[in-house]
Amino acid sequence: MHTCRNCNQSFQTELALELHLDTCQKGQLFCQVCGERFREGDATQDGWHYECPNEDCDGEGLKDDLYHVDDVGVPTN
Ligand SMILES: [Zn+2]
Ligand SMILES: [Zn+2]
Repeated sequence: MHTCRNCNQSFQTELALELHLDTCQKGQLFCQVCGERFREGDATQDGWHYECPNEDCDGEGLKDDLYHVDDVGVPTN
């Protein structure tokens, strides 16, 4: 069993989990500098230092410029 560490949803295969992570709202971060949303994994290499993956933006730091979508309640489409 593979479980999403963001929303605790369980999946039969690792592939299914991978696909889910692309769309998991709870795993997404929001940059308040540029307004972009992106996967958590795109914003960090080591799970410690976070920075906005947008090259034109210098937003960085979890809970400084970057927030979990789930925490701030950014409206989703
Ligand atoms: Zn999830
Ligand atoms: Zn940004």
